[in-house]
Amino acid sequence: MRKKVLVTGGAGFLGSHLCERLLNDGHEVVCLDNYFTGQKQNVVHLLSNPYFELIRHDVTMPFFIEVDEIYNLACPASPIHYQYNAIKTVKTSVMGAINMLGLAKRIKAKILQASTSEVYGDPDVHPQNESYWGHVNPIGIRACYDEGKRCAETLFVNYHRQNNVDIKIIRIFNTYGPRMHPHDGRVVSNFIVQALQNQDITIYGDGTQSRSFQYVDDLINGMIKMMDSGKDFTGPVNIGNPNEFTMIELAEKVLKLTGSKSKIVYDALPDDDPMQRQPDITLAKEKLNWEPKIELEEGLTKTIEYFKTII
Ligand code: NAD
Ligand code: UDP
Repeated sequence: MRKKVLVTGGAGFLGSHLCERLLNDGHEVVCLDNYFTGQKQNVVHLLSNPYFELIRHDVTMPFFIEVDEIYNLACPASPIHYQYNAIKTVKTSVMGAINMLGLAKRIKAKILQASTSEVYGDPDVHPQNESYWGHVNPIGIRACYDEGKRCAETLFVNYHRQNNVDIKIIRIFNTYGPRMHPHDGRVVSNFIVQALQNQDITIYGDGTQSRSFQYVDDLINGMIKMMDSGKDFTGPVNIGNPNEFTMIELAEKVLKLTGSKSKIVYDALPDDDPMQRQPDITLAKEKLNWEPKIELEEGLTKTIEYFKTII
């Protein structure tokens, strides 16, 4: 059945892949974005599809439309961007969630929230499973994002409890791939862009902090499986790749795969930068029959090929 789907933040890195996949699956897609960190360029190849519609709109303002499903992705995701206007980041997460949940309630649409591993903060439980409540500094520089996303989860579960809205929450772990903005500031795009230009690779801190990197196609599969899952399963569910790497290991892999002459340099570690992060994906395997398929070297190779075409 052809569904009508709204994707907020659809012109961003993840949103553009989601719009493309939904169109390929035969659905009608309305992409809504204010172009803060996203760009038309990411979806320009979809504009000739008659089932694709692009609308400039800010999710902090109400929006009315008739759709079957809503994917709520609107929110800057890179620390430099979400810290640029911290108050706006909180508004986007919280007012954006209220506006989209109000819409879902009114039109009886199913709604999925793109939450984040950041709800676990700098975790003292490792790996992180969904029952862990997290370790977040509510007044730190990352709080606008972490607490905004935590409050959005609270809003989602309460619209479900009070109003029986059909909700889905996924907690996305670090995801990379083609269409990340070259100046996005996140580690994978930074290292690749630096390596391809033979500039210094900037490791923040001593590089022993870890992250678990997921390729974008795996995430999109998980996101769609979650949206399609039964009404009784609301999540939150972790969607990430459990293979964990230090930033030194990541830099070395990027250097090897690009054949770059870049040197590694060490800069200051930003405040509240989590030391480790690894998803426990037992729940996603059990409830969604989902697990990631693309390992880091394969995903990095595809991403490097993309950045070669735009640099
Ligand atoms: P992105 O910055 O590329 O995309 C975010 C999109 O939201 C952009 O197109 C931006 O212009 C749009 N946007 C921001 N504020 C808006 C507003 N007020 N109104 C309308 N549109 C707005 O980032 P991304 O990596 O594609 O992330 C997408 C979503 O996934 C975000 O909600 C993010 O928190 C979540 N997420 C991403 C990751 C990751 O590793 N990529 C990890 C965890 C969670
Ligand atoms: N990082 C780094 N060099 C960079 C960009 C980031 O060493 O040029 C580090 C950053 O300090 C963090 C990790 O890489 O420890 C992941 O950063 P990113 O911003 O990609 O994601 P997040 O911290 O939100 O997981």
